[in-house]
Amino acid sequence: MTLNRRSFFRRTAVAAAAGSFLPALSQFSIGAQSSKRMTMTVRPYTLDLKHVFTVASLSRTTTPVVLVEIEYDGVIGYGEASMPPYLGESQESVMAFLKRVDLSKYPDPFDLEAILTDIDSLAFHNTAAKAAVDIALHDLVGKLIGQPWHRIWGYNKAKAPNTTFTIGIDTADVVREKTKEAAGFKILKVKLGKANDKEMIESVRAVTNVPLTADPNQGWKDKFYALDMIHWLKEKGVVYVEQPMAKERLDDHAWLTERSPLPILADESCQRLADIPNVVGAYSGIVIKLMKCTGMREAHKMITLARANNMKIMFGCMTETSCAISAASHLSPMVDWADLDGMLLIKNDAFSGTTVVDGRLVLSDGPGIGVKRR
Ligand code: MG
Repeated sequence: MTLNRRSFFRRTAVAAAAGSFLPALSQFSIGAQSSKRMTMTVRPYTLDLKHVFTVASLSRTTTPVVLVEIEYDGVIGYGEASMPPYLGESQESVMAFLKRVDLSKYPDPFDLEAILTDIDSLAFHNTAAKAAVDIALHDLVGKLIGQPWHRIWGYNKAKAPNTTFTIGIDTADVVREKTKEAAGFKILKVKLGKANDKEMIESVRAVTNVPLTADPNQGWKDKFYALDMIHWLKEKGVVYVEQPMAKERLDDHAWLTERSPLPILADESCQRLADIPNVVGAYSGIVIKLMKCTGMREAHKMITLARANNMKIMFGCMTETSCAISAASHLSPMVDWADLDGMLLIKNDAFSGTTVVDGRLVLSDGPGIGVKRR
């Protein structure tokens, strides 16, 4: 199953000839050639979405990602950076950041805390690029141990939750069609934040009675409107609301959370571990995403800190392949809700790993993050 460097380059050349990669970007490798040093290989990849995806701020049909491989002693760990536009990263910025990461200077891949702290200090942002390295290193270390991360952390994979499936903003007809296609899911997430919020919910409700979650993505401008909407959403069977208003408006969110009959979760307001103290009291809980928080290691710490503050936790994602989704799923037995459907929204998943069966996340028993290249 290991892929030596020469065969990886050959495969890449064939794929590039087939037009899979952006012509302006090419893969590169950093690190010593010794088999006992870590070597990182990086390549851009573009995810094709099954449907046009619309949220409060914009629409799109593709998502740029960067795939990472870290090789050590013949074992390869896989990682991924996904860059939806609002993160402010691109394939170019991720590739530029990763060029500065020299893993060959670290003799021991198990030294995760020191390696990832060093990488985090290279730049202030680039959280998706950092997550790609974090995921690949965790995959590598898990493979060297021979165990999946849910077992290393001591989590029961049978406790992995149902995942929501996301219905993007669209016309009533399309929303009804998408809801019918999502028939196997036990809970659905509905994107809100434009002028048709009630029509979105009514269109979904015309098809299904499953519980719903709502995500206005900062789209609501007025706290009184938000509170009225949340009362209405509760009557429609919505169980929590993500990021109702602009991320900077902490006082307005605190006002809303105090009065809301539903949990209010901080998504855009809470990116990293250090953001949690700022949102305690303003929200009922947080949304953790690997691409926001630099990866599995910090996500694990965020779960601990959020729980210590009696906060609810939702684990979310971007449009990602099964690589990053599987990585996130190893933490999912510890959260209240999961929205790990990113790999189901794309046509060209480059990996297999965690799957969704009857709406629930099913983790593989493979070591590391438990993925295989397709
Ligand atoms: Mg959200």
